[in-house]
Amino acid sequence: MKSLTYADQHTTAWSNYLNQLDKVAPFLGELKDRLDILRRPKRSLIVDIPVEMDDGSIQHFEGYRVQHNLTRGPGKGGVRFHPEVNLNEVMALSAWMTIKCAALNLPFGGAKGGVRVDPTQLSKRELERLTRRYTSEINLIIGPQKDIPAPDVGTNQQIMAWMMDTYSMNAGSTVTGVVTGKPIHLGGSLGRVKATGRGVFVTGREVAGQIGLNIPEARVCVQGFGNVGSEAALLFHEHAAKVICIQDHSATLFQADGIDIVQLMEYQKRHHKIQGYAPENEIDADQFWKIPADIFIPAALEGVIDEHIAQTIQTRLILEGANGPTLSGADEILSQRQITVVPDVICNAGGVTVSYFEWVQDIASYFWTEEEINQRMDNIMKKAVYDVWYKAIHVNCSLRTAAYILACERILIARKERGTYPG
Ligand code: GLU
Repeated sequence: MKSLTYADQHTTAWSNYLNQLDKVAPFLGELKDRLDILRRPKRSLIVDIPVEMDDGSIQHFEGYRVQHNLTRGPGKGGVRFHPEVNLNEVMALSAWMTIKCAALNLPFGGAKGGVRVDPTQLSKRELERLTRRYTSEINLIIGPQKDIPAPDVGTNQQIMAWMMDTYSMNAGSTVTGVVTGKPIHLGGSLGRVKATGRGVFVTGREVAGQIGLNIPEARVCVQGFGNVGSEAALLFHEHAAKVICIQDHSATLFQADGIDIVQLMEYQKRHHKIQGYAPENEIDADQFWKIPADIFIPAALEGVIDEHIAQTIQTRLILEGANGPTLSGADEILSQRQITVVPDVICNAGGVTVSYFEWVQDIASYFWTEEEINQRMDNIMKKAVYDVWYKAIHVNCSLRTAAYILACERILIARKERGTYPG
């Protein structure tokens, strides 16, 4: 079977989202007639970003900021720097943020941004110039009460610091609340870097408990060893699970008696890849989905679980650390095979939850301890897991459809109450 290229996966991202939305319609009663509002983004901005390169030449990059829905509050969502980012993908990612924020009951709408660039090919100065010009180009539509960017694939704290500084320079005063995921001494929040991976573990542990799966001794496979995959792997490792396989862009590492995640993280920090850590344990990349395990954690990019993988994967639980890793046809098959999927909009929502705390702390200029942050995050995430779990039992649907029902109800009721301007 031909595997999807990155470009194929991303032209399918928006249609994957629309298919997910169609599955919710029958559960929405009279609100169903209002669902069209979620079938298109509210606002999409495409910008040209000219950058003076270190050799004096000028290169042009294409950037995007999409605000999918702002009914429940300002837009919220990351910025992705990737060589194949496109409008279709950013639209899907922004829509997933709308659903995620509503499913967690955070007071935000959904947005996402991206720049079509390979950040690893730029010098630090070029990356800074690109980030600052992108921020200036989207300046009109972002702001602490309008739309608050954050890190995503290919961006980090440094990029958030440059975005905050550029916005502040244009505003004439320091505006820390315009982006989240900033460095700690610039109004960043404790716990933000680890939050997404931590949320994958917390939601995974709760759902594992519901399906009678013991975390100690559970065999875990993780795809992606970046910010999300490595922290999730570490927490499972610390709770006595056996992380038997890790895959990143460079290699697939398999060790039946469990990989020492602490050591692998140290290696990865030095080499920026896992290849070479234990060459004798490296296997072919296409073996990854064939390994029998109890838990799979896709924590890289979208569209990786297709129908073929859904039919053949041997696992009990899938924790979606990435956004949109499961194609909608595959989702049906996993449901029929009674493999439990904790959907991205709940599973990876730890990041945006602590982003919410960061925004609140910036506005109040009063900062919390890491214990407070983790405690509040656990409360919000556990509540979301159980709301979704009982909704799924009540209406007899998958956890994803249940999360979409809860989110769509919250958004569409708010929309109904606000009415349609100009009335
Ligand atoms: N990029 C992350 C996500 O997909 C975080 C977004 C945020 O913190 O606003 O959820």
